[in-house]
Amino acid sequence: MPKKISSLSDLFRITTPAAALAFSVAAPASYAEEDMSKPVIKVEKKKDANGREGVYMYIDGMKVHETDTTKQPLPPVVTPGDKLGAPPSDAVVLFDGTDKSFKANWADTKGGDSKWNVVDGAMESVRGAGYLQSKEKFGSCQLHIEWASPAKVQGNGQGRGNSGVFLMGTYEVQVLDSFDNKTYADGQAGALYGRSKPLVNASRKPGDWQCYDIIFHRPLFDKEGKVTRRATFTILHNGVLIQDHTVLSGGTGWRGPHAASDYKAHADKLPISMQDHGNPVRFRNVWVRELKDK
Ligand code: MG
Repeated sequence: MPKKISSLSDLFRITTPAAALAFSVAAPASYAEEDMSKPVIKVEKKKDANGREGVYMYIDGMKVHETDTTKQPLPPVVTPGDKLGAPPSDAVVLFDGTDKSFKANWADTKGGDSKWNVVDGAMESVRGAGYLQSKEKFGSCQLHIEWASPAKVQGNGQGRGNSGVFLMGTYEVQVLDSFDNKTYADGQAGALYGRSKPLVNASRKPGDWQCYDIIFHRPLFDKEGKVTRRATFTILHNGVLIQDHTVLSGGTGWRGPHAASDYKAHADKLPISMQDHGNPVRFRNVWVRELKDK
C-alpha cells in the first residue's frame, strides 16, 4: 500500500527519486473539449463541362473528394504485419464462418433473408442484393471485422473492391481495394467516407485478408434532433492506426461528387451494415463489444 498523503508537508517528506518522479507526472490529459465551431462549411453551385449544375462543398477549406493531390495529399503507404485478431471472451460474435451464424445474425435491410453468399467461410457481397445488416442493434462499440477485396482486379478508383462498414447503418468506414489504386483520399480504404482520410494507407494486396478494429462512440442528439456530441472513431487497419479519435464532422452519405451530408438524428442503437457496391467483397470473423457512452 502506498503511504497515505494527508497534507502538503507529507508530500515534501518524500525524498526517494522514484517517489519524486511519481509525483512529477501530471494526471493523464483528457481530450480537449470539442470545438463546436467546426467544421466551417462553404457551399458553391457550379456548372460542369456538360452544363450540369453541381454542388461543391468545402469542409474547413478542403473540397469534399478533392482529387488534386497537391491540395489533399494521399496518405503514405505502410506495410502491415501479418496476424489478425480472434474474438475475446466477452465479444458478441456476429459471424464465425458458418451458414448457421450467417442466418442467425444477418438480414437484408428489410429484415428478410439476405441474398449475400457464404463462400469459403466468408460472407460475400452480391450485386443487387442490397446492404447486409446485423439483426442485433448496437450503439457505441468496439468492432472487429475482416474483409478481402476480390483477388481478380477489376475496375479502378471507387469501382475496385468497393464496399463499406456502416456503424449504426449510417456512418461509413470505407472498404476499397486501395492497394496501388488511387482515388480521392477521403474515399480510400479506412476513410470516414467524404469526411476524414486515413492517417496512412495500410492496405494489403487484392484477395488478401485485411482487418479493421474500430472503436466507435455514437453521436448524441437533443430533443430537437440537433447533434450535441459528434461520433468519434479510432480505427486500426491491419493493426496500424489510421483514425486517431477522429471526430466525425458530419454524415458520410453520398450527396453528389463533391457534396457531404449532415448529421440526422436517429435511434440510440441500430444495426451494423455492409455495403453492396456491386463488387464481390468478402467479410469474416466479425465480432463486437458494446461500449458504454461516456
Ligand atoms: Mg463504400
